[in-house]
Parts: sequence; C-alpha cells; structure tokens
Amino acid sequence: ALPSERDQNFLLDARSGPSYVLKIAARSDGPQVLAAQNTVLKHLAQVAPELEVPRVLRTKEGEDIAAIDGPGGVTHLARLLSYVPGCLLVDAAPHAPELLTSLGAFFGRLDQALAGLTLPEFRREFHWDLQAAGAVIGRHAGLIDDPARYALVEHYRDRFETIVAPAIPNLRRSLIHNDGNDYNVLVTGITSRGGSVTGVIDFGDMVETATVIEPAVAAAYAILGKTDPLAAAARVVAGYHGIHPLAEQELDLLYDLIALRLAVSVCLAAYQRRQDPENAYLSISEAPAWEALERWRNICPRLANYAFRHAAGMPPNPRVGRVADWLAANASAIGPVIEPNFETDGVLVFDLSPASVQFTEVGEPFDQAELSRVMFGQLQAAAARVGVGRYDEPRRLYTAAQFCPPGSDVDEWRTVHLGMDLFLEPGSPVLAPLDATVHSFGNNREQLDYGPTVILRHQPEEGPEFFTLYGHLSMESLDGLEAGKRIAKGEQVGTIGDIAVNGGWPPHLHFQVITDLLDQSGNFPGVAAAKDRALWLALCPDPNLMLRIPGIPKAAGGRSPEAILDVRHRHLGPTLSVAYDRPLKIVRGSMQYLYDHLGREYLDAVNNVCHVGHCHPAVVAAAQRQMAVLNTNTRYLHDGLVEYTERLLATLPEPLRVCYLVCSGSEANELALRMARAYTNAIDVVVLDGGYHGSTSGLIEISPYKFFGPGGAGAPEYVHVVPTPDCYRGLYRDVENAGRHYAAHIAEAMLEAQHSGKRVAAFIAESLPSCAGQIVLAPGFLAESYRLVRETGGVCIADEVQVGFGRVGSHFWGFETQGVVPDIVTMGKPIGNGHPLAAVVTTPEIAASFDTGMEYFNTFGGNPVSCAVGLAVLEGIEQDGLQEHARTVGASLKHQLGCLAEKHQLIGDVRGEGFFLGVELVRDRVTLEPAGPEAGSVANRMRERGVLLSTDGPYENVLKLKPPMVFSEAD
Ligand code: PMP
Repeated sequence: ALPSERDQNFLLDARSGPSYVLKIAARSDGPQVLAAQNTVLKHLAQVAPELEVPRVLRTKEGEDIAAIDGPGGVTHLARLLSYVPGCLLVDAAPHAPELLTSLGAFFGRLDQALAGLTLPEFRREFHWDLQAAGAVIGRHAGLIDDPARYALVEHYRDRFETIVAPAIPNLRRSLIHNDGNDYNVLVTGITSRGGSVTGVIDFGDMVETATVIEPAVAAAYAILGKTDPLAAAARVVAGYHGIHPLAEQELDLLYDLIALRLAVSVCLAAYQRRQDPENAYLSISEAPAWEALERWRNICPRLANYAFRHAAGMPPNPRVGRVADWLAANASAIGPVIEPNFETDGVLVFDLSPASVQFTEVGEPFDQAELSRVMFGQLQAAAARVGVGRYDEPRRLYTAAQFCPPGSDVDEWRTVHLGMDLFLEPGSPVLAPLDATVHSFGNNREQLDYGPTVILRHQPEEGPEFFTLYGHLSMESLDGLEAGKRIAKGEQVGTIGDIAVNGGWPPHLHFQVITDLLDQSGNFPGVAAAKDRALWLALCPDPNLMLRIPGIPKAAGGRSPEAILDVRHRHLGPTLSVAYDRPLKIVRGSMQYLYDHLGREYLDAVNNVCHVGHCHPAVVAAAQRQMAVLNTNTRYLHDGLVEYTERLLATLPEPLRVCYLVCSGSEANELALRMARAYTNAIDVVVLDGGYHGSTSGLIEISPYKFFGPGGAGAPEYVHVVPTPDCYRGLYRDVENAGRHYAAHIAEAMLEAQHSGKRVAAFIAESLPSCAGQIVLAPGFLAESYRLVRETGGVCIADEVQVGFGRVGSHFWGFETQGVVPDIVTMGKPIGNGHPLAAVVTTPEIAASFDTGMEYFNTFGGNPVSCAVGLAVLEGIEQDGLQEHARTVGASLKHQLGCLAEKHQLIGDVRGEGFFLGVELVRDRVTLEPAGPEAGSVANRMRERGVLLSTDGPYENVLKLKPPMVFSEAD
C-alpha cells in the first residue's frame, strides 16, 4: 500500500520489468474527473515526454478506467498507472540550491505544456485552490487551539482579503498540477549538488486557476526545514521563471501565496485530524509547515518581493534607481557627515577584505583593540585624519552569532559590507548631510553590533524618500532624541563612540544609505550574506554618492573562481585536480581555519602540511627575518643548518644520526632509495599495496596507489607488492595474529626476488598508510617485517612524510607506535609548515656507504630560510605541546566519531591515532561493500557546512581527517 490522502493506492511490483501503481479512486471522484486526469497524463506524454509523470495503462478490454463491483453493490473505479522512478524530494535533503532551481524549472515546463489545455472538470471550486484560501482558513482556523498560531493564519487571511483576492481577477489563468509537495516530487541523479527534479505524481488536485499558484505551492514545500526559506523560495522562482516567465504582478503575490498554501495546509490538517484522528498521512507536513510559517512571518513581505524580482532578473527595488539618481543630481546640496575634509585632510583606505595584508600584525584571533591601535597608528604615519572602510567589501570580521546563525551553511554567513566606515577619534561630531527627521534610534549593544545607532529619514522636495544610518556612536548621541525630531542639514546627529560602547570596534562611523527600511527601526543589516549580495546592494546604494570621497578604489576581489578555473583549464596541466564539486577560492589561512574570497571561514580538518597552524606567526616571522638577511646554498658555513640538524636529530632514536635536507617528500624518498641501493648493492623493493611515495619516475614505480590506479602500468619486475596490513577490510582481520600473517608476505617477496637471482634492497612503508585509506598497521607488523628484511641484508625505510612530527599523539614518529627503529626515515609535508622542506635521516653506516665519491648536492635543500622555518616548526610543536594535544583531542574526536558509528550504519570503521583518523563508509557492514560516492557526498556536504575534509583509499570511501595540530576540542 502507498500512502495517499483520498485514494487507495498500491504498488504492483512485476518482479521482472517495470512497476505499476494501482489506484482505486475515492468515491467523491467520479468517472469524468478520472477520465479528465487521464486526458492530462496522455497530453503530457505527447507534448512533454521528458517529464516523468505517470503513464496510463489499459485494461484487456482497452479501457483506461476499470469499474469493479465490490461488496454491498458499491462500484469502485480503478486505474493502472506506470510507476515514476526517483527519490522523493522530502528524502533528497539536504536540498542543494541547484536542486531547488530544478524544482522550479520542472513546474515551469509542466505549466508550459499544460497551457492551452482546458477541461471543464478542472474548472471547479476546490478547497486546495488558493483562490479559496480566505474561505478555507475562515472555516477551519477556529480549530487551532494555540492562540499565537491562530493569529498567524488569521494574519495571512487578512492579507489574502486585502492584497491577494483583489489581484486575482487580473492574473493569467491555466490548468495547473497544484500539488508540488515534497512527497509528490521525484528527484534523480542525486549527487552532492543535489540531483534534479525529473518527475511528479498525483494529479488529483489539478485545477484551472491563477498560474502563479503553481510555483507558489512548490516553493511552499521547498521552504520546509530551511534556515533561509527566502533563499530557497527564490531558487524555485528563478527556476520556474527561467522556463515559463512570470509577470511582475504575479511576482508581487508570491510571498502571500506561499504563506497561504502553508496556512491552508495547517487548517485542513486541523480539520482532517478532527474527522480522522488515526490517519497520520493527513498531517504529515503539519509540524514543518507551522515552523516554516513562523519563520516566513519574520520576513518582510517587501524584502521577499525584492528577492523574487531579483530571482526573475528584474531590478529588486525599482525605487533604488530613483534615489541614486536624485543623489547624483543633487550632489552640491549634500553637506558633510564629518568635519575633516576628504580633499585636504588626508584619507587612508583600509583594506579589510579577507586577503588584505594591511593588518597582518594584528594577532589572531582578531583582536579589535589591537586592530584599533594599528589603524590609528597607520593614520598617524600617513598623516591622514580619516580612515575609510569600503562599501561592497567582503570581510571576515563578523564572527558574532548574529552574523552566522547556528545551523546555517557557510554561504548563509553575512560578510559583505553595505555601508562605508569612517574611522576617526572618539568624540568627533557626526553631522546630518541633508535636512532630516529622526526615524528611529537604539542601542544595539551586542558584541560586534552597532552600539548606539541613529536612523534619519530624508524626504527631499520633489525627490524620493530614503534613509541614512549612523552606527557606532557615543551613548550621549542618543540623549534627547525622539522619533520625528527635525534635524537640519549641518546639525550634529551625534558623536563617534569609543570601543567600550560601540559594539567593541575601533572607533568609527558606519554610514549607510537605505532605500527601504523593511519595517525595521533602530537597526538595519549593515552586512549581507555573499549569496544575497546583489539584492542587498540594490537596497543600499553606494554611500559615496553622498560622501564623495575622491579616489576610493573598488574593494578588490581578484578574479572570480570561474575565471581562475578557466585559466587553469587552458594553461595549467590537466592533471591538476581541484577539491570539491564547488571549488573554493581560498585567500587566507589562520591556524586551523581557512577563509575564502568572500570572507567565509572553513575549519580545516584535512591539511596536515600546515602542521602548527596556517600562517603560524612564529613560522612566518622566522621566514621573513631570515629571508631579509640571507638565503643561499649549503656551501657556506651557517649556524642555521647545523642548529636545525641537531634539533631534528634530537627527536630520533639512535643510531639515526645523519641528516640530508631536501625540498620535497619525493626528493627524500628518491634519496633514500639511492642510499639503500648503494648500501645493499641490490635493486628490488618491497612495498605495501595502496602505498604512495612520491611523484618522480622512480617513485611512481614503487607506488601501487599510482601504478595500479588509473593510467598506471602495473608493478615493474623489481617491485614486490605485499597486501595492505589492514585489519578491517584486509586479508587478515584477526588483530592478534594479523601482524604475523601480513609479515609472512614480506618473507614471500624476499623469496620471490631470490628465485630470480636478486636481492631486496629496501622495504619501504608509511608508518600509518594514508592514501591506502588511513590505515593503522596490524600490531607487530613492522617489527616482524623489519626482522625478515634485515635477515637478508635489506634496508628498512619508514616514510613519515604524512604522519611524523607528533601527529599520532602517543609518539613523535609513527614508526614508534610499532616499536621499531628504521634504517632510513624520510620526512616532508609538516616539516616546514608549507615551506618546501624535507629530510632524510639515516645511520652513519649507511651514510658512509653512500659516500662513493659522487657529490650529493641539492641547490635549495638546507638553505638558511628553510632551516629557520624548520626550527620554528619544531619549537612550535614543543612550546604549544602539540603532540600531547594531538593525543588528547584526537582521542576525543575519534571517540565522538565512534558515537556517530552507533547511529549510522554507513560508518563501517573509525580508526587512527591522534590527529590521523579515518572513517570508512560501507553500504553493508557484513560484506563491507564500499560507499565511495557516499563518502564523496559527505565530504562535499561538509564543505558546504564549512568543514574541510577529503576521501581516500582504493575505493575513495574513507573520510580522511588529519587537521593542523592546533585543531581544538571545540572544533
Ligand atoms: N610520501 C608520502 C607518504 C606522501 O603522502 C607524499 C605526498 N603526498 C610523498 C611521499 C611525496 O611528497 P611530495 O609531494 O612532497 O613530493
């Protein structure tokens, strides 16, 4: 049985071949209505075959509708329809913006196909037709017990009577589906970008009515459960309009029609519950509908209208152009807002964009008092009286809750500045630039809010009304104010507040021009989410129309992500990949955070290169200092080289006492192989399956991750691959004995070499294999393997490029977790915190055998800047206690991931040490069928939510977590 409001529906599963839906009609639907529904379905099959809607099947007698006599002489009307494939929209959450656009587009296409079809059966009075919304709400609202909810539906009924009903007769009309709810809409091709709407079922609510009701109904369900319902609705409208354009007067009604659909839904649910308390399907949308309706009520209807107009490619607020024109035409009538003269007193533009280098000396986390000190210092140095913060500048300054509500996606954070800032001494007067009345004022005292704020209303003669906002004033500025008070041009509005009262900012005036206050008073958004940028800029024109500060450059954004991708495609090797379906343009890093060009913050949970934190100040300072003094090769004596070498070697056990500094992990492994071969006079290498050791020709040949992967040529003869010692998915899963069993394959590999008259030069393994899927080696594996390899004279190389430098928490080096001492250790990635530094450390004995008379020279390796950086990294790990931090916080992270595994069948395994963790996703916990696409979806979804991680392993089904070591418990 399938759920339904009125019919009885059954899914017929025809074992082989397609499925069908048997529909037994409710008795209220007579044969004419059913026949008319069939007519519509057949019409759609013909004119819009790409739309997945049910197809009508016939009885053996050739009938579309079968009349079946039931008990008691009742005749039932039955139809057989094809089953429409796909996932219900309600189950396809989270809904990506693209999915919502496709929802609108689907109904646009449907209505385009239905236009011109008219059937008398659907010219009917019907309680689900929003033309009757006023009557339906009026009839049933009394059943709503909660007075606040009763008032909510009554509010929209009032608006129906005063706004919607009078407009309806003038609207375009057509036959519409009228029920694009999230249980009727079908989605296919679900990816992290959401898939697209391809089908719809249930044509039982069709009616001939105002066409705009169709997108309103779809949007009403699309906003359920959304933190930003207006953005969701605007997506649906954009999609619909793109196919089946809406007129201005239709757009004008959308805000109310969307609310009315929800109001009708909750009223009918209340009524039906009273009739049939057992039928849960009847009120399936009720709780989310109430919640959405309550959120919708908080949206100013005019803002919604602007958003829908914007979605339809129209100017959001037609009045804005008039205000801007008036300001431009009356420039000479506009007086100053502050006393200093922008032409003669000196102005310094502050670049507050996320990529700015102007304030790098200000500590992280960004400290406002420190910022203030630096800003006013810069003003003094530049002999400028005013600092200017720009309009339309994305910033990463807005970190308080009111800018990024909990539970919202990163693109819902507000970062784009809508006013201009004038930084000057506290107490400086702020003047009215035009005659005005006080519209409203208030003290917005939350941290990072405006503090004392005044909004003035301007109504120039023969000009449009508009408003100016003055934020971050002193407390005294509010004394004696009252709404309606006149303030003449040139009179004082207030004075600049100091950091103690102004929301905690460096002293400045935030000045904003507003064309529609959206029913707010005493406060108004001064920053907008980047995705709503165009809409908000269209409500708040450039304040420089009034300030007229000369020579202000536009806030620089650099190239758009699309433009960068385009050049990459044309001029960079096509083998370069980009992370995430929606690529990120990252412009700044700070400790465990990255920031995109729009100022949005991402928690970096995967970048193990910036070990002590992105742009760690001590590392940056060390590099800058040394770079300014000397950078050259190792053929001169320098303290840095020997000091760093001593410090690095102090982290390693005896007899690892000889160091070579190089520039990449690949160089390190290349050198390690050369040494092993020089020492053993042999060629062959034993490697772990799934291993990766570098990008040179020589290392691709010993990296199964590459040679068994796409474009790979398989293992060369001298390379012996042994199974990944993985106790979860691998060959042996009995943890107690697996180490021994896996090591036995090493013995086999040695024999294999011997059979062809060769010997093994080296066994190379990552101490915790990363690319293979964040593997923790079976216990005892390395000890037994090293014993076997050394028995025949081979050398054991530990590749610590991924896991070294305290990442595993319990130990400084990964190999220590297995209780072994390698003959050669290679290091890279974290060693220089992003600076190209790498190293090989070995024993004096091996080093001596490599000294054949041929010099090993590395132009950049061991240069003074690299050594200074390396030293700062070691000091950072030690001073900040990062190894211990990785142990405790890593354990907590792993524990909490383990708790998720109890809730989610998809999580097969949670493993790792310290800050080197893997979460393996499987479709079946018994067969371990890998869930690769799901892992990709999770990584992409996490990116949308502001957390960066990635996937790896042979099936790309392991979520990889290896954050900068400063990742905190709160993170
Ligand atoms: N070894 C391992 C284990 C690695 O993960 C990598 C890089 N991903 C390398 C070596 C090569 O390092 P690089 O890219 O610095 O050459």
